[in-house]
Parts: sequence; structure tokens; C-alpha cells
Amino acid sequence: MDLFNSFIKETIDQLGAPRQRWDYNVRDAWRDLGSSELVLMKDAAFELGGGGKSAVNFTCVTDDHSLVPKDEVLLYGPDLRELKGDSTFARIAFLGVKEISKDEQEAFNTIQNMEFVKYHVFPEGYMMRVSPESHREQVRVSKKALRRGISFKAVGADYIKQYHTNPNITSVKLIFITDPSVDYKALTDRAKKVNEVTKTMNKILEGLPEDLDCNSCSFKPVCDEVEGLKELHFGKEGMKKMGKK
Ligand code: SF4
Repeated sequence: MDLFNSFIKETIDQLGAPRQRWDYNVRDAWRDLGSSELVLMKDAAFELGGGGKSAVNFTCVTDDHSLVPKDEVLLYGPDLRELKGDSTFARIAFLGVKEISKDEQEAFNTIQNMEFVKYHVFPEGYMMRVSPESHREQVRVSKKALRRGISFKAVGADYIKQYHTNPNITSVKLIFITDPSVDYKALTDRAKKVNEVTKTMNKILEGLPEDLDCNSCSFKPVCDEVEGLKELHFGKEGMKKMGKK
């Protein structure tokens, strides 16, 4: 599962050293409500990605454990209690997974479960609005949560706790960005590409005909650009037969 490694490396190179880094400890996890909560505007301190500001989100998986060696939360920019109003925002998850490429069904289940987690984290006082088509994840943070000490360390630990309900996920690098000087356009462009690869991978894992011709397939631009997708579809043997490798 190295389809996303270049995206992970590019992001790490782009961001450089974080302002803060915390090792994961389940005891740090912010209270999770288990279902969505409505934070009204009158109860909100600010919105991450509010006021038309950037709010990027994407998730990459890899079985290269040098890229995601342990569970950790990284922060670029001010923490929640330091923000004075609406802020630019990005949340990026890099998930280390067990080697899953050999069993397509297992790979498919793992990917589906990762999507499941994305929509099933509900930190108290931290209301997310996700827009998959525009790769945005906007968050309304309540005044009460701020008074009670909410932080990215605590929210990040809640995410990691939920990710670990999936036994195929071995490690999580969770990145929060509020620094306005970060190149959010580059992150958004990468989020679009990651989304295209994820969609193509899902289609392949759902099962596409073995005799499908790449030249008449709508995924060709993605498969031509990202190494590994064609092999995922046709397998090593299939690639040899077609003389593609
Ligand atoms: S490998 Fe070829 S046939 Fe398969 S999804 Fe990609 S472009 Fe389509």
C-alpha cells in the first residue's frame, strides 16, 4: 500500500518542523459524545475554517512504518486556546497500516473502516462540518469547551483512540494546522489528488473487470500518474502478460 507515500513525503517536506508534538496517550483524549452535537453560533468561540478561510482535510494510508513510526499529534500554528477568532485550518491524518495489499477484500474493508472513523469522531464542544467534494473540514468550537481546556492534543488523542478501533491501523500521525502562513492551496491541491487516488482505489477494490482496457477507462489519468494503481487492478501477473512492466 504505497500509493500515498509520495503525498505523505511531500506534505512532511512542505510543513517542516511542527510548533508542538505530543506522543499519544489515551488518557489525554477529549471526551467523545459518540454522536453529533449542535454548537450554536451564540455558543461558539470561533470556527476553524470559518469566515471563508481555508479548511483542508485529507487522509493517507501507508504500510511504510518509517513514515508513520508511532502515534503522535503535530501542531503547526496556535493551539485552540490561543486563537482569538476564526482561523485557517487543516487536519491531515497519516495512517500506518498492516501490509494489506495481498488480500484485496481485507484492503477494501480497511479503507472503508477508515472512512467510517472519519465521520464518527465527536469531541465535545468541537462540531465538525465535512464537505467531501471540496475537501473541507470546518469546525465550530464552543466557548464552554475552551473554558474546560480543549486543545489539539486532547482532540487529536480522541481521533487516534477512534482510529485504533480498527485493528489494521497500527500507528497514526495526526496533523493540525492553524498557521495562516502555510500554503493551503498546495494542501488543497494535494487533497484533491489524494481523493482521486482513493476513489480509483476503491473502485478497483470493489471489483473492476480484468479485461477492462485502460484506454477506455475514465480513471486512466489517475492510473497513469500514480504508480501502483494498475498493478492493484491487474496484479503482478496481469501486468507481465500485458507487457506493462
Ligand atoms: S488500471 Fe486501467 S482499467 Fe484499471 S482502473 Fe486504472 S485505468 Fe482503469
